Amino acid sequence: MQTPLKIAVVGSGLVGSLLAIYLRRAGHTVHVYDRSPDIRTITFSGRSINLAMSHRGWKALDGVGIGDEVRAIAIAMDKRAIHVADKINFQNYGKEGESIYSISRGTLNRKMIDLAEAAGAEFFFEQKIWDISLADATLHIGESERGEWTDVKYDMVFGADGAFSRIRHRMQRQSMFNYSQEFLDTGYKELNIPANPDGSHKLDKNSFHIWPRGNYMLIALPNLDGSFTCTLFMPFEGENSFAALTDREEVETFFAKNFPDSIEVIPELANDFFKNPTSTLVTMKCFPWTFEDKVALIGDACHAIVPFYGQGMNAGFEDISVLNEMIEKFGDDWKMIFSEYENSRKPNADAIAELSYRNLMEMSTKTADDKFHLQKKIEKHFSHKYPEHWIPLYSRVTFSHRPYTEALAIGDRQNEIMEEVLKMDNIEQLWDSEIVEQKMLDLLR
Ligand SMILES: Cc1cc2nc3c(=O)[nH]c(=O)nc-3n(C[C@H](O)[C@H](O)[C@H](O)COP(=O)(O)OP(=O)(O)OC[C@H]3O[C@@H](n4cnc5c(N)ncnc54)[C@H](O)[C@@H]3O)c2cc1C
Repeated sequence: MQTPLKIAVVGSGLVGSLLAIYLRRAGHTVHVYDRSPDIRTITFSGRSINLAMSHRGWKALDGVGIGDEVRAIAIAMDKRAIHVADKINFQNYGKEGESIYSISRGTLNRKMIDLAEAAGAEFFFEQKIWDISLADATLHIGESERGEWTDVKYDMVFGADGAFSRIRHRMQRQSMFNYSQEFLDTGYKELNIPANPDGSHKLDKNSFHIWPRGNYMLIALPNLDGSFTCTLFMPFEGENSFAALTDREEVETFFAKNFPDSIEVIPELANDFFKNPTSTLVTMKCFPWTFEDKVALIGDACHAIVPFYGQGMNAGFEDISVLNEMIEKFGDDWKMIFSEYENSRKPNADAIAELSYRNLMEMSTKTADDKFHLQKKIEKHFSHKYPEHWIPLYSRVTFSHRPYTEALAIGDRQNEIMEEVLKMDNIEQLWDSEIVEQKMLDLLR
């Protein structure tokens, strides 16, 4: 236990609500603010945006004993189902028994707010934080930016208020604060594959479905109610783009041509397409993440990444695991806790930002490429035989707790090796031979 403090967490999203549980366990008074209404009181249209949870996320949930409750609302996906021209190729994600898990964001968030409340955190919804006085951790709360504000002083404030964080906004105005923000020219739109009348799934439910088509792709993740949430990623402008699909006929023709097997499973395609917004994707980096022993950023508020590795929330949850390790190590020395936390997390946040950016190419283009499949086949065969020499990059990121920086560096080295291996004569026939294995062992030395 630490000396009890009065702490505010701004943002009751996935990271803010889990952080609240950890801070309560450490003995603090915790107030969580969110500008939105209580997500538990909002009735959804039956749709659910879903996320893939993997090892890093589970570790943080298990750390406060809530992993099993969350596992009960998750669906294991042990493979990619890659929809190419007229067939589906399946590609396992990891070793036997390794899966990523599809979870509804809304269900998860509601559960975590319930659990945080049960742990004694107090929530204040529809409370907009417009600014913060960093030096004395005072929040400025009000209806509008120009209206009257109420000031509430805390011992410490965590900014878990997402990619466009107001807490960070104030920190940005400090000297020596570095900040960058880059939007992708690819956006996304959610679509829906409803359940069969008997509640079963229309596609294999234990797969992460991908329709890779070069600079655009469709993905689908299963929900517990038999439906799938689909996401179309596509450039905003250009030949195959959101701008090029302006009426129902164009949308239906585009899908019939490019995702023919999706047509019959997305009955409300054109309606969904024009009803649902087209959203942007941003990578945001900044540093420092903390101000003295008063204010700290966490989750998307300090490292927003594009979603192509399914790691944004996982990385945010890992921030919490690391912060907690520092709390256990340094007791009441919050300056030390903050300093070690930001220095240990920043390089890893940058590494997963880079890996996520690169994975857009892998998902949208390479998964449809024969050479890529051959490379994966060789890596899988080799890592099965020499697990001490080769853990594939995807597994290092997804099924491991080792730093993202290590995954990035070793992944780059492995790619160099695979480039050499793929140049070998008759590699298509020799892929699982001892000659190839020996070559890889030599290159690894
Ligand atoms: C399309 C897409 C797919 C994704 N898929 C995955 C995936 O498969 N796996 C994965 O790990 N991650 C995924 N992510 C990333 C993941 O969604 C984020 O990393 C995660 O939601 C970040 O959580 P957070 O709590 O830090 O921020 P947020 O979820 O953004 O929560 C911030 C909260 O702060 C509140 N807030 C903001 N400003 C204020 C203010 N001024 N005052 C009061 N409250 C405020 C907001 O209302 C919100 O509740 C995906 C992201 C996208 C866009």
